[in-house]
Amino acid sequence: MMNKGVLAVVSGFSGAGKGTLMKALLEQYDNYALSISATTRSPRPGEEDGRDYFFVSRERFEEMIEAGQLIEYAQYVKNYYGTPREYVTSQMEAGKDVILEIEIQGALNIKRQFPQALLLFVMPPSAAELRHRLTSRGTEPEEVIENRLKRALEEAEGIENYDYILINDKVEECVRQMHQLIQDHHSRTCNQEDFIKKMRTELQQINQ
Ligand code: 5GP
Repeated sequence: MMNKGVLAVVSGFSGAGKGTLMKALLEQYDNYALSISATTRSPRPGEEDGRDYFFVSRERFEEMIEAGQLIEYAQYVKNYYGTPREYVTSQMEAGKDVILEIEIQGALNIKRQFPQALLLFVMPPSAAELRHRLTSRGTEPEEVIENRLKRALEEAEGIENYDYILINDKVEECVRQMHQLIQDHHSRTCNQEDFIKKMRTELQQINQ
């Protein structure tokens, strides 16, 4: 019997290096499926529709909400972001470990719907390093950076809702740790319900 995949949510302050971590994780290991979100924000230079996000209009996004096509969605710095349902459920059924790289409201929403999900929060080693990473990306105006730092302060309030924090100092080390935590999560009883049921049935039969 094939086990279903684990649902892992990865959040972290904007600028914590989640994008780099995700890329390295997917390159190094086979069993992950990264969900691609829909968003109403404009593409940054180098971003591609269908690879980084599905870039959609506000009207289209609202249609997707109405049609129940999103598992969760949230507003983040004036834009909508949401997770398409179909991909997540089909990949988990196929045994893939599905990763959602989403912000904190979405993460808590997922935890309510999927209590067996694993919630990981990525942080840089210090706030100064966070500011440095945001600034050196060089793609955003100062005002947007200030907004993201304010948002980081708000998000820091909710970190205890996550299962683990990951400090992204050295990417390689952080990726290895993330992989380990997700793989260990497979053995949790909440992810082994089918196997537990099967064993109970077998035990009943053997005891007849
Ligand atoms: P960015 O604009 O920097 O790509 O993303 C802004 C924030 O939105 C990040 O914290 C990112 O994790 C989050 N985000 C991306 N996709 C989704 C999604 O589908 N749902 C939610 N709730 N947040 C998302």
